[in-house]
Amino acid sequence: HQPVPGVQAEMTPVPDLGEKTYRGTGRLTGRKALITGGDSGIGGAVAIAFAREGADVVIVHLPAEQEDADRILGLIAEAGRKGHSIAADITDPARCRALVDEAAAELGGLDILVNNAGKQVAVENIEDLSDEQFELTFRTNVFANFWITKAALAHLPAGASIINTASLEAYKPAPDRLDYAATKAAINNLSKGLAQQLVPRGIRVNVVAPGPVWTALQVSGGVSDEQMKAFDDESTYQRSGQPAELAPAYVFLASAESSYVSGATLNVNGGMVTP
Ligand code: NAD
Repeated sequence: HQPVPGVQAEMTPVPDLGEKTYRGTGRLTGRKALITGGDSGIGGAVAIAFAREGADVVIVHLPAEQEDADRILGLIAEAGRKGHSIAADITDPARCRALVDEAAAELGGLDILVNNAGKQVAVENIEDLSDEQFELTFRTNVFANFWITKAALAHLPAGASIINTASLEAYKPAPDRLDYAATKAAINNLSKGLAQQLVPRGIRVNVVAPGPVWTALQVSGGVSDEQMKAFDDESTYQRSGQPAELAPAYVFLASAESSYVSGATLNVNGGMVTP
C-alpha cells in the first residue's frame, strides 16, 4: 500500500495487526475460514488471530496486493496453520463463485466466512461522485458479499458462522462518503435478514461495525489526514482504533462462545454510542 502521507508517522506509523501481541488459546481449533480483504488492515489482523486460534485460513485480496498477502501467509504458516491466498477482483460475480469453491477445495470445507473487503470514495459533492464510482462501491461492499455468501452456503455446515464488516458510518454517515455509508447500512440489514433466514440451517450471521481505524482504506479512498484527525477528536476515546483491537470481536463471533448470538451488530468504535 501507499504510505499514508503527512501525518501517518505521528498518528499511526504502521497499522498494528496484532502480530506482536495476539495470543491464541485454541478457540477456533480445526475451523476453516475464508476472509475477503484478509491481506491488510482489519482483515489482516483477523487472519492472524484466526490462525493463532487454530483455524486454517484462505485470504482473498486484490491482485496488486500480493506482497501484503504473502506477509499474512507467512504469519499463518508461523502459527502452524494452513494458509492460502486468492488474488481476485470481487466485483466480478463469476470470480466470487469460483474463489469460494477454490477456498473450500483448499481447506477441505468451510465453516467461517468473513466478508470484509471494502472500498470508499471520499468526495465533497454528489456531482463529483460518478455513477461508475457509486456502482463500484456497491459491487465491492454489497454485491460481492451477496455473491460470496450465496456461493459459500453450498459449503457451510450447521454451526458455521458468517461475519460481515459494516461500519460506524452505517448509522452516522459522513457527508463526503455517500457511497460508503449507503453500502454499510445495506450490509447491516442484509445480515439481519439473512441471520433470521438461516436459523433453521444452524448458521449464524453477525456484523462487526468498526469506528475509525487508520488503514490503507483511508488512503485509497482519498480520506484526508485532517478528516481522520477530526474523527479522532470527535471520538469518545480521542483516537482511532487499531486493526488488532478489532480482531477479537471477529474471533468471538466466529467461535462457539457466541452460539447464542445471531443477527447482532457488534460495535467496536472506542465508545461511540450508536442507535
Ligand atoms: P484495507 O484497505 O486495509 O482493506 C480493504 C481490503 O479490501 C483490502 O485487503 C483489499 O484487498 C480488499 N478489496 C478492496 N476492493 C477489492 C476488490 N474489488 N476485490 C477484492 N478485494 C478488494 O482497509 P480496512 O480498513 O482494513 O477495511 C476492511 C473493512 O473494514 C472494509 O469493509 C471497511 O469498509 C471496513 N471499515 C474500515 C474502517 C476504517 O476506518 N478503516 C471503519 C469501518 C469499517
